[in-house]
Amino acid sequence: MNYQDEFRDRNVVLGYAARIAELVADRREPLSFMEVCGTHTMSIYQYGLRSLLPPQVRLISGPGCPVCVTPNDYVDRAVALCRLPGVIVATFGDMVRVPGSSSSLLEERAKGADVRIVYSPLDAVALAARTPEKKVVFLGVGFETTAPAVGGSIIAARRQGLTNYFVLASHKTIPIPMALLSADPELQIDGYLCPAHVSAVIGAEAYRFLAEERGVPCVVTGFEPVDVMQGVEMLVRQVVEGAPRVEIQYSRVVKWEGNRKAQEVLKEVFTPCDAPWRGIGVIPDSGLRVAEPYAAFDAERMIPVAVEETKEHQGCLCGEILKGKVSPFDCPLFATACTPEAPVGACMVSSEGTCAAAYKYGQ
Ligand code: SF4
Repeated sequence: MNYQDEFRDRNVVLGYAARIAELVADRREPLSFMEVCGTHTMSIYQYGLRSLLPPQVRLISGPGCPVCVTPNDYVDRAVALCRLPGVIVATFGDMVRVPGSSSSLLEERAKGADVRIVYSPLDAVALAARTPEKKVVFLGVGFETTAPAVGGSIIAARRQGLTNYFVLASHKTIPIPMALLSADPELQIDGYLCPAHVSAVIGAEAYRFLAEERGVPCVVTGFEPVDVMQGVEMLVRQVVEGAPRVEIQYSRVVKWEGNRKAQEVLKEVFTPCDAPWRGIGVIPDSGLRVAEPYAAFDAERMIPVAVEETKEHQGCLCGEILKGKVSPFDCPLFATACTPEAPVGACMVSSEGTCAAAYKYGQ
């Protein structure tokens, strides 16, 4: 048995399912727990974990996929940038397929734009060093997990004296939207399975205000089926005991204080800003923009570009899916007009998207 098998053990998973059922046996009111991490969403679909839970316990997927929550106007800006002569747009793979208002980076590349897929922001810095005659724009999309690496790339570019490396930042931070969604009476969120990778950076402390001021149980949970089921059991226990608190199920990776070094990079290179979330709208202080001392690396400041009027995708329910209000199976386009090969919305594009997970693994 290897390390991973331990966290996929069927009997352990079923043991947690039985304990959860026991804890809610007398309960009439259903409980809704939201996961705000695309990797949790994938795991829940992949292992069919919903089917193991009693009818009183519902798991809903929230805005945990960074590519999915990035709105069309950001994609439109990236498209406008890659159309400029002398500009290379460098990005992680998923972003190239996300449809903007009228085009995508993939379509632009087919028409001749220089769009490159990189595996790390430092690859984009190296590209800038190799091509001093070009402006290299890296698409800074992602939560607190990705943002430190992007911040690190800006610091590296400055150290190397590069003047042709830029970041188009659309980084988002997770705890504030969680507070916003927990106050939505339509959703009635009874607890959060808090994200694992994000929490490794920001630390479990970051959710204390949710539990202590808003009364929302929080459990920082790992990705394997045993992790998720144990996380749900811990949430159910908190509800049954009437004692909301923050707990760490994923203690093999996440600490209360998080990763101080990564937090320092975030603080140095970025500054909090109001950020638009697909489907949710602008959430105050929920984003990170490039801080003033690093303005020379900020694509938005340094390479102004005219952006087309934003249009939403007809019939796509991504916005409602990201708020946890509907499931992919409620979308009339799901698996008909919208598939991973021909995605209509971002939730079908990203490997962490709820629609992509539902398409790949079914109910
Ligand atoms: Fe949008 Fe496609 Fe998901 Fe429907 S199935 S919500 S069209 S991404």
